[in-house]
Amino acid sequence: SGLVVSFGEMLIDFVPTASGVSLAEAPGFLKAPGGAPANVAIAVTRLGGKSAFIGKLGDDEFGHMLAGILKQYGVIAEGINFDQGARTALAFVTLRADGEREFMFYRNPSADMLLKPEELNLELIRSAKVFHYGSISLIVQPCRSAHLMAMQVARDAGALLSYDPNLRLALWPSVEEAREQIMSIWDKADLIKVSDEELKFLTGSDEIDDASAMSLLHPNLKLLLVTLGEKGCRYYTKNFHGHVEAFHVTAVDTTGAGDSFVGAFLCKIADDRSLIEEEVRLREAIKYANVCGAITTTKKGAIPALPSHSEVLSLMKGSQ
Ligand code: ADP
Repeated sequence: SGLVVSFGEMLIDFVPTASGVSLAEAPGFLKAPGGAPANVAIAVTRLGGKSAFIGKLGDDEFGHMLAGILKQYGVIAEGINFDQGARTALAFVTLRADGEREFMFYRNPSADMLLKPEELNLELIRSAKVFHYGSISLIVQPCRSAHLMAMQVARDAGALLSYDPNLRLALWPSVEEAREQIMSIWDKADLIKVSDEELKFLTGSDEIDDASAMSLLHPNLKLLLVTLGEKGCRYYTKNFHGHVEAFHVTAVDTTGAGDSFVGAFLCKIADDRSLIEEEVRLREAIKYANVCGAITTTKKGAIPALPSHSEVLSLMKGSQ
């Protein structure tokens, strides 16, 4: 199967040992590897696909721990750099009793923000069938330049570009800047995945309807996916659009569901990108990705909750 190269941040999430508490009230924290692009890379290898991660970590205990986790899952780690000065990024994350997520980041700056264009492993990027990225790596220099260069190199080598903005407003200097920068690379992507909340943010509309989603289509965009949590996923191409229902589960922690969904979908696309053009096959791939997203919500954490291919198949079989 084709290589998925995922570019961006990997960090440590500190999650409270107690549930439904604010960050200030949390009695203690457990460390959990995180960062959407790293989660996506692992989601791909868990399903039997091939992936590489490109990014920068601190040359510290946490940075080497994270690189070790990627390798343990079979992710190609030759594109990882270690910064001698800055630390691996940390994020303290809690789900409060009111259901709201609270984030507190330690990035002043963190190693991931310091990736330079000249540190990129161009050979690895050129071997990608699919090149995937988010928007957190666009926030500051020099990482922003590295991100833009990596996209260009991947595109020139014939990769399909996949974009999941993965909005984290707290990291941006302002709401306007977030929207502007996220949209600044919009028309470079072949494939974009947004959540319902991101769709609202980017269109400025309160509605998640077909018209607002279709306002985000651009001439080069082959596919827009809008994930809707327990309501599944909508898809939009130039020729058709529709909806694939979610796989029904009892969710306990939705962390990583979107990354699991993306990893699963990219696995299918890396095998055969022509599936975007045929609605029946596209719906099959989205169904598979929905099952992966659903499974990920049934276990705590992101990476430990990513399913293997056989888990997905047995669940799909059992439901028929
Ligand atoms: P994100 O994590 O990016 O916000 P979503 O929460 O929309 O993304 O989840 C991504 C996908 O995971 C959904 O499209 C759906 O297929 C699946 N999923 C998420 N939450 C649930 C749920 N509660 N029940 C079933 N499937 C879910």
